[in-house]
Amino acid sequence: MPIDEMKTAAYYEALQVDVCDCLYCRNFYEAVNETELGAFLQRWGVHMNQPRHLSHFDEEPMHRYIGEYVLIGDMPLEQTTALTFERHGEYIIAQFDLVVPWVLA
Ligand SMILES: [Zn+2]
Repeated sequence: MPIDEMKTAAYYEALQVDVCDCLYCRNFYEAVNETELGAFLQRWGVHMNQPRHLSHFDEEPMHRYIGEYVLIGDMPLEQTTALTFERHGEYIIAQFDLVVPWVLA
């Protein structure tokens, strides 16, 4: 099995992290859902508001975000241009570099 959707979803449900609710992070959580990357990761049970090491860079009028999500499984089914995969034992670290607009009102 490539990505284990059940295990990945369970990983996020068990995560005891505070979801950052600053404006920059909230913009990311909203904007990422509109992207191919968001659709790809959500399909595998990833909670989009729980990235690791999320960084924001202002690139007026756009906003660049860098960070990573954890997936569980063997190998990703497909690569996407915005993602780089790295294996760490049972975990797959999916690093992203994504430029999105400001979507919050
Ligand atoms: Zn934040």
